[in-house]
Amino acid sequence: MTAEILDGRAVAKTIQAELKIEIAEMAEAGVVPALAVVQVGEDPASAWYVGQIRKICKRVGVTFRLDTLSDSTTSEALASALDGLNNDAGIHGVIVQMPLPRHLSQEVVTDALDPRKDVDGIHPVNAGRLFQNSGDYFSPATPAGGMELMRRYSIELKGKRAVMVGRSNIVGRPMAMLMLHQHATVVICHSRTPDLGEETRRADIVVAAVGRPSIITGDMIRPGAVVIDFGANVVEDSLVGDVDSEAAMEVASYVTPVPGGTGPMTNAMLMMNVVSAAKRQHGL
Ligand code: NDP
Repeated sequence: MTAEILDGRAVAKTIQAELKIEIAEMAEAGVVPALAVVQVGEDPASAWYVGQIRKICKRVGVTFRLDTLSDSTTSEALASALDGLNNDAGIHGVIVQMPLPRHLSQEVVTDALDPRKDVDGIHPVNAGRLFQNSGDYFSPATPAGGMELMRRYSIELKGKRAVMVGRSNIVGRPMAMLMLHQHATVVICHSRTPDLGEETRRADIVVAAVGRPSIITGDMIRPGAVVIDFGANVVEDSLVGDVDSEAAMEVASYVTPVPGGTGPMTNAMLMMNVVSAAKRQHGL
């Protein structure tokens, strides 16, 4: 068996084209979605990522604003900057680039940020609503992208056994919840799971968000399973996932490649969240 590739690059392009049309229609109605990115300090990886966000905003027609704060910004100054953005009617979504300098905690951000503008889905109100699957909320973009990719390939989750490897607040946990909401039977694995292979071999859908190259080997995948790989690991200057992709291609039914799978979906979903934020704030 050779698995079918879940082409995140192509799907992300389609989503961008759809959003471009939707945003142009919103602009005609007088609403141009706007995203503010707050960057504290000068982490080079973070600066690269901000550049990617700027590009995709331009491509789809979202107004982009970057607020750069110095490394020595105090908690109070960061909270005050976020308060300013909360009260700025021209800004619909706000993200704060991680990692923050050591002296600042993520709680400063979540305490200060208006959940209605939290398009990264890090605020406890959004995390809580995602957990309860009730009301309007924002899902973190990476897991939302994995779900959207499966949806666009008509991969049914209802009644399936899904194994989520990883339980971070930005990928593993929300992904597990999103799959649960689609009526999968979900098992969450982590670093203390005694026999990872025993769990993954029973899965119809294996999802990896660990950060370890090839932690999921071919013999850990049930024939015909769907494999979603969020891993983004740099090995000898190349980007590789958490799954041994060559082996997975031989045994699985669908596989996300790395690069070109879940990665490109993340920013497309961020743009979707900004559009939803603008619509909600303007009652569209
Ligand atoms: P974290 O380091 O926050 O979480 C890793 C998770 O993996 C933890 O829950 C940890 O368990 C678990 N884990 C570690 N070792 C093992 C093991 N041996 N067996 C089973 N589970 C294990 O990482 P993130 O969730 O932030 O990121 C995960 C990966 O996804 C990374 O490669 C990251 O680069 C990538 N990523 C990709 C994105 C994209 O756009 N595609 C966006 C964000 C991240 P425990 O909780 O017990 O410590």
